[in-house]
Amino acid sequence: MIRDHFRVLLVDLGTGRGRIENLEGRDAVAGGSGLAALLFGKYGLPERPWDDPEQPLIFTIGPLTGYFPLMSKTVCAFKSPYHDQYAESHAGGRSALALRFADYDALVLQGRAPTPSCLSVGSRHLDLKDVHYLWGMDLFKTGKMLRRMYKGAGHRSILRIGPAGENLSAMACINVDTYRHFGRLGSGAVMGAKNLKGIVILGDGSFPLPEGKEYARLFQEVYRKMTDTDMMEKYHNYGTPINMAILNGIHALPIRNLQKTSDPDIEGITGETFARDTLLRNAACAGCPVGCIHIGFVRERFMGENRYLYRQVSYDHEPIFAAGAMLHVTNAFSVLALLDTVEREGLDIMSAGVALAWATEALEKGVITTQETIVPLRFGDDAVYRVAFHHLGAASNEFYRLLGQGTMKAARHYGGADFACVLGQEMAGYATGEVFFVSQALGLRHSHLDTGGYSYDQKDKEPDVNGAVQFLVQDERARVLLTSMVSCLFARGVYGEDILADCLRSVGYKVLSETTGAVSSHVQKLRWRTRLRTGFDPRSVSIPKRFLEVETWRGPIDGAYLAALKEAYAGAILDLAREEREPGPQKG
Ligand code: SF4
Repeated sequence: MIRDHFRVLLVDLGTGRGRIENLEGRDAVAGGSGLAALLFGKYGLPERPWDDPEQPLIFTIGPLTGYFPLMSKTVCAFKSPYHDQYAESHAGGRSALALRFADYDALVLQGRAPTPSCLSVGSRHLDLKDVHYLWGMDLFKTGKMLRRMYKGAGHRSILRIGPAGENLSAMACINVDTYRHFGRLGSGAVMGAKNLKGIVILGDGSFPLPEGKEYARLFQEVYRKMTDTDMMEKYHNYGTPINMAILNGIHALPIRNLQKTSDPDIEGITGETFARDTLLRNAACAGCPVGCIHIGFVRERFMGENRYLYRQVSYDHEPIFAAGAMLHVTNAFSVLALLDTVEREGLDIMSAGVALAWATEALEKGVITTQETIVPLRFGDDAVYRVAFHHLGAASNEFYRLLGQGTMKAARHYGGADFACVLGQEMAGYATGEVFFVSQALGLRHSHLDTGGYSYDQKDKEPDVNGAVQFLVQDERARVLLTSMVSCLFARGVYGEDILADCLRSVGYKVLSETTGAVSSHVQKLRWRTRLRTGFDPRSVSIPKRFLEVETWRGPIDGAYLAALKEAYAGAILDLAREEREPGPQKG
């Protein structure tokens, strides 16, 4: 539904009542990331802690959701339990289309439900149900129950948390429609703090598509690029796990808590191995013709001889890096079994895997003992890691509770900060070099997707502080436009700025189509101001010693270059966050 404002559903979980608010700002922030920051500015409480009941949990979509393929993400924004600052997390699945069909640009949840509850919203209904009997249930059982309780498969999107979210772990994710996640920075704990076990969004409305030839022509053009050309082929074929062998080959894969960047054993967990031995099928987010989600299987004997059950488990480069390479588990089926365990707990696998890699090295070095870890963590021992992931999700003792708040928090308490692989949060699966390390450490989401720092490192360039920082700032700006449209970032090769402008015009967003450059620049600054207002100081970020000990494809890390980059990028972020001046009167 084209409208020049945002239609926002605000829900007070304390009373179970909602109201619609029409919010101005479409032409300034577009939607997605921009709308999330705008809403946090209106409803967020920068000075109060993340678990203050009045802090909002925000979900937003973009102006092209439902009109063009791969406009498939929902942006989730919140004050994070990980660092008590503004955070954004993105997920696909069906949530974006469900919100579009329910006719909302955003859903904002405030307050705290009086009992463990599930919220259900649609175009004409809102219902907060007491589900205390689901509290304590793992993510799989919760999903099964919610699917039975709420009808409407196909148009329905189910968001849910597991025990980690209930235990307020800063590594708790929100699972979206089984195979996608709002993974990082603890959105699951925000739901837990709000006593919210699940959210069901029912896309039960409809909307007309634009008339005329232009929209149909553009849709065909975009669709053709995604399906008939090789632009998206790599995502459908092996998917992101193709990176495992590539990064291992160029000495850029973090292995064994980043003690190494290449190892022949990685052969057992490459994308090719997963496809050959474990792949069952591909799946896709709603409205996506690419289908990059790869689903393998785990098989377990449950009784006697020859009695097996199997479960389907999605895999990607990042989960394989975290549960495989970092823990030196190099058998594809063992990695899938670990992913299955982590999923059950409702933990973010990247954070959890990197945390346990640190704990394993800390145990090896005698920094902690099995009194803390309960089980004898050992690189490569998947059976022990399965138990440890459960302890992490359950916060079984003080050690696991603290580790669940972040590896660095545990390291500060027990020792071992030098080898904590933390870049703002637990590292992503790239040890490409200085630009990536700085990009993730200082990036707004501390995500490998904030910028293409990992690809900049792989270009054979001499160290160039100004050139690299300029790249980071410009690349972030381009990505912010896409995330404000809620495009899947895999489509960045298809959705250039001109095509995006044409798409916006074809559905009726004329002003927005002419100002995409100004919008991306404005949203980039708005997000940084929002983050800084909640306490982020880019100059205070430190990069642990382990990242200086690493050898990448170019040889040892250049510590002086890393330090200069960090300083310069921090300065650029502070510049971006300065208040924009109102345009003054033009001089004649
Ligand atoms: S390419 Fe993958 S992540 Fe992106 S929308 Fe399609 S299925 Fe979802």
